[in-house]
Amino acid sequence: MKYSTRALRVGDAPPLSQLTGIRLGGKPVAEIVLRDKTGAEHLPDLVAELGGLPAVIGKGSNIIAADEDLPLVLIRRETREKVSFERHGAEVWAKAPAGLPLPALLNAAAAAGLGGLEGLAGIPGSVGGAVAMNAGSFGTEVGPLLRSLTIFSPRPGLQEIRTGAEQTEFCYRRARCLGLPFGSPAPAAGEFPVLLLEAVFSLAESGKDNVRSRMRAFLAEKRLRQPVGAASAGCVFKNPAPDVPAGRLLEEAGMKGKTLGGMRFSTLHAGFLVNEGGGSCAAALELIDMAVEAVRRHSGFILEKEVCLWVRQ
Ligand SMILES: Cc1cc2nc3c(=O)[nH]c(=O)nc-3n(C[C@H](O)[C@H](O)[C@H](O)COP(=O)(O)OP(=O)(O)OC[C@H]3O[C@@H](n4cnc5c(N)ncnc54)[C@H](O)[C@@H]3O)c2cc1C
Repeated sequence: MKYSTRALRVGDAPPLSQLTGIRLGGKPVAEIVLRDKTGAEHLPDLVAELGGLPAVIGKGSNIIAADEDLPLVLIRRETREKVSFERHGAEVWAKAPAGLPLPALLNAAAAAGLGGLEGLAGIPGSVGGAVAMNAGSFGTEVGPLLRSLTIFSPRPGLQEIRTGAEQTEFCYRRARCLGLPFGSPAPAAGEFPVLLLEAVFSLAESGKDNVRSRMRAFLAEKRLRQPVGAASAGCVFKNPAPDVPAGRLLEEAGMKGKTLGGMRFSTLHAGFLVNEGGGSCAAALELIDMAVEAVRRHSGFILEKEVCLWVRQ
């Protein structure tokens, strides 16, 4: 099935190796590109007709997908909308579409002299992915900065919700909304994923020069410590505790620079698994298992995965 309206485009999906930062993954069944939020209500029927599991993708910077063809119907938000600002006393609310690249939101905030997001400088991906993963670095996390969200879920339909209280829950690199996970950490039969369409961030006047120089400093620090230009999915594992970085445990367990079938744990930061060209998901999973076992033996910590694994469970 192929068709296109103002709100939706349905068609063939490119292989996930073209849509993910780590450049791995086979071909999904189809892709639905949501151009306008009014199209969201048609998604459950379209996915059922196309015959696959619904899987929401942003910019693919935190996903490792199986090498073979995947029984997935991708849902991707594409947008030309920009960030809009609204003043509310000392706060300024920044409304951003989910499909917007996160760096574009940071640039818009910096240009308006609004502070709050600086610690997220250098995190790739989309606004939707950043909310779904409760992305964070340098002591800043997305969750506490949010004021409200526009979501689609088949039960309430299209809805604007205030963050906090019983509606949303943000924890370490995961977020839930109305009791369900955002998006598709691991696509499975059952509930339709909660799709984020827009997010409103609460920011504060901070001065353009100040915001820009803080962002530059965080970015420089990140470039020094992480392989930001390499084909990766970011940190593979969660830190087991705030003062116990997974990268250090992996390094101490001898995994830094460890390579297999075109995949390597970065020599700059052992937590990043890099596709050096010609890598495969099979090799990535084997290295990940080796790393979990090496760390367990060396320090007793059981590492949990931070990346979203789109593989058969
Ligand atoms: C070099 C590098 C550095 C990184 N540094 C950091 C860091 O410092 N801190 C950090 O937290 N992360 C970091 N990451 C990981 C990654 O960039 C973030 O998790 C990012 O927020 C993911 O956004 P995305 O659009 O690429 O999401 P994707 O990878 O496309 O998807 C990730 C998850 O979000 C869901 N999702 C995406 N869009 C939506 C939507 N509209 N509605 C609902 N769910 C959605 C997906 O279903 C999936 O479950 C890094 C990654 C790389 C490659």
